[in-house]
Amino acid sequence: MGRTALPLRLLLLASLVLTSGASQSPARASGLLDLLNSIAPPAAPANQSGLPPLPAQPGRSKNWVGTRIHPPGLPLLVMAGHADSQRIRGSGTPGAAVGLGGAAPMEAGITDELYWNLQTAQRVVELGRQRGLNIQYYDPGLRTILDQNDPRSNWSVGANHAAQGGYAVEIHYDAYSPHGIGPGIIPSVLNGFSSLDEALANEFGGYPYDHRGMLGAPRRGISMLEIGQLEGRLENGLRDPSRRDQTLNAIAERVVNALQKGLAHGPVGGTALRQ
Ligand SMILES: [Zn+2]
Repeated sequence: MGRTALPLRLLLLASLVLTSGASQSPARASGLLDLLNSIAPPAAPANQSGLPPLPAQPGRSKNWVGTRIHPPGLPLLVMAGHADSQRIRGSGTPGAAVGLGGAAPMEAGITDELYWNLQTAQRVVELGRQRGLNIQYYDPGLRTILDQNDPRSNWSVGANHAAQGGYAVEIHYDAYSPHGIGPGIIPSVLNGFSSLDEALANEFGGYPYDHRGMLGAPRRGISMLEIGQLEGRLENGLRDPSRRDQTLNAIAERVVNALQKGLAHGPVGGTALRQ
């Protein structure tokens, strides 16, 4: 009902502004507000089939363009989503095999999402290094860190990396149907949308920058890459020991190719040396 919806919206907006102000410098917070005010309306969904456009998927319409370019040697940081939030709220999806099928988790004590986030993040870094990217992996090691501002947490290390001009991304798998949405990049909202996120969106699709009211990682300068819903062919390919390696390699290949393309983007007729 309208009578309850408007106060709720105002409350959400107020809490967004308050949280932004509390966690960031005044300059950053006002930059965020400028961004909110200046953002373009959602683009029409891409339609290459000639068929009438599909209705936009709720919660998954890209409403940003990553134009911020970077030097080719930009330090990249890859982390596994939920690596420090196990056994508490926000531990990630159990995946369909466990959540629906009753299978044993891949590793006791952690969600299957974290298990695959770790494997995928490591594979991306391994392949990225082979391709000559300046890419690092971070794992806090501790699986439960209650204080998000603990200096060892993913968010603290990622925010610090981004504050120093680097690019930070967390790998995720989305929940199985009907809870999840699907693959896509949720871009960092600090310092302008990156050409790296644009390239990842070309490969995986793009979520709105303000997905679920803007998540904690993007607010801190960390992009989130949803590889896909942890179910069906994707999950089977990961769980089947005879196809696991091949599946992880195929995913890493897509991520690293996109990162390479994102770094190669520069202004037309120029070189990508401005950060
Ligand atoms: Zn996740």
